[in-house]
Amino acid sequence: MGLVVYNTMSRRKEPFQPRDEGKVSMYVCGPTVYNYIHIGNARAYLVFDIVRRYLAFKGYEVEYVQNFTDIDDKIINRADQEGKTPAEVASLYEEAFLEDMESLNIRPPTIMPRATETIPDMIEIIEGLVSKGYAYASEGDVYFSVAKFKDYGKLSGRSPDELNEVGRVEASGLKRNPMDFALWKASKPGEPSWDSPWGPGRPAWHIECSAMSLKYLGMGFDIHGGGQDLIFPHHENEIAQSEVFTGERPFVRYWMHNGFVNIMEEKMSKSLGNIILIRDIITRYPPDVVRMLVLQTHYRTSIDFGPDALDESQRAYERIENCVFGLEGLLANITSKVAPVRTEREIALIDFFFDAERRFEEAMDDDFNTARAIGVIFELVKELNTFVDEQQILQSPGGPIVANQGMDLLLKLCRILGLLEPAAAECEETAAEWEEDHIPSPDVLIDLLLEVRTLARSKGEWQTADLIRSRLHDLGVRIDDLREGVRWKFT
Ligand code: AMP
Ligand code: ZN
Repeated sequence: MGLVVYNTMSRRKEPFQPRDEGKVSMYVCGPTVYNYIHIGNARAYLVFDIVRRYLAFKGYEVEYVQNFTDIDDKIINRADQEGKTPAEVASLYEEAFLEDMESLNIRPPTIMPRATETIPDMIEIIEGLVSKGYAYASEGDVYFSVAKFKDYGKLSGRSPDELNEVGRVEASGLKRNPMDFALWKASKPGEPSWDSPWGPGRPAWHIECSAMSLKYLGMGFDIHGGGQDLIFPHHENEIAQSEVFTGERPFVRYWMHNGFVNIMEEKMSKSLGNIILIRDIITRYPPDVVRMLVLQTHYRTSIDFGPDALDESQRAYERIENCVFGLEGLLANITSKVAPVRTEREIALIDFFFDAERRFEEAMDDDFNTARAIGVIFELVKELNTFVDEQQILQSPGGPIVANQGMDLLLKLCRILGLLEPAAAECEETAAEWEEDHIPSPDVLIDLLLEVRTLARSKGEWQTADLIRSRLHDLGVRIDDLREGVRWKFT
């Protein structure tokens, strides 16, 4: 049936049809760099890493943009507290974020733009909104007139009354209407600022993501992701800004939002102070255990992060790892991949492999249902363990070959999800070893070319024979045709 994706906009699963055939453009709201990230933030980046990996497995070329919000009130406050400049704070936590992503084995996005490097694009959009009459300046700030955008509330499903209520709480004397939101803020003395038609100031958060996503992916890109807390007002505001500025819609084809990581039924958040940092977790658990925790729950369902959550994920992960290690040990010396004859048990197992692979893909195609996909992986582990326990591996010549096939499938499925990946160092080592073992010496290659030349001569293909001789001559190889055969040497 193909991939279906739950779209927050339509509140249902839709067949996935990207804007450009064979390509997927995705934008995920990146971190505001003023603190170390916690397991809640990490869930968002792991979820979209898994989405991206699966899309790549499906054959799409994925362009993944994830920004850094490197100018914000929180960064300025942090800088004041720590006696640093906002730029120093942003750079410190940007680096820490990248380290945390690497430690979790999250693939780097294709492009990681910084808000502070995209300010001319933001000013251009704000100017466009003002000239269209959808935004107004007020004492150096600029606000978006929410009431003018009739589609406002379409993503979050909020009614104008609810929106008014939110606006009243945040009311500021500079707004014409409590619902309006800031596009540009005049900077206070000593704060970072950029010149603009409205005086020195800085962008507000929402305009940053409109500018960076439109700049790198263009209108109507495929997937926009983030945690569920970003649906309102952040993503609602991004839609208003982008659709009014371009005069086109939709801004985004599929809106995807991950569920929260909660602690004692409360969202883990920096402001509540109930956070567990990735840098602390990663000293005690391998990255695959954190990934496993995320994979075991569907991405839209919340995760209750109890004291045993990671230990439970570790036990689950070890079941897979032990199966692979056990099989690797048993099969270390198997070279043949073709089974002579297969027993009925082996044939049944091979059928199971095909079925498992199909069910895995079916689960992932169903709105990236990793919980079900992991369930299939566990069934495969169970089947393989039983096969080993029954000592079937030793009972027929086909046993090890079938077991090897099962192990390859297990690794393949795990790696689609980013589990059990060989470490980068290991890959490099293997590549170097492979080169050493496989690159033939120049002598062998020259002999091979001369063999082709002899064959060409025997068929009267003089042009080919002469081409080989002259090219080898250019490379410093002299050929002598003697009665006893061809002889060559380096000149
Ligand atoms: P922030 O740096 O707070 O803007 O968050 C970065 C990303 O993490 C956003 O996509 C948030 O929606 C997401 N996020 C923040 N807290 C949680 C949480 N407790 N559970 C899941 N996702 C979260
Ligand atoms: Zn954003």
